[in-house]
Amino acid sequence: MSDKSSEPTECPRCGYRSLDLLYVSPVAGAWEVYQCRQCLYCWRTSEPARRTQRSAYPESFKMTLEDIRNAPEVPTIPPLRTGA
Ligand SMILES: [Zn+2]
Repeated sequence: MSDKSSEPTECPRCGYRSLDLLYVSPVAGAWEVYQCRQCLYCWRTSEPARRTQRSAYPESFKMTLEDIRNAPEVPTIPPLRTGA
């Protein structure tokens, strides 16, 4: 379980140090959901270290400011197929 000492100080994905607390668990102290203000990555504090800590986050998924600025647009969702 998390406590105050586990409150994140940087984004696991891009290392940015400005985070928003989005949600807290209905049961007090179980988890919080944070979002990075720079790359918009979201995570819940109860997720494993590879999703919540920069030092354990997979290298291939890390983003730099350059990566974020050059990221292509998110593809739109295609129309639903008919006749299934
Ligand atoms: Zn980030």
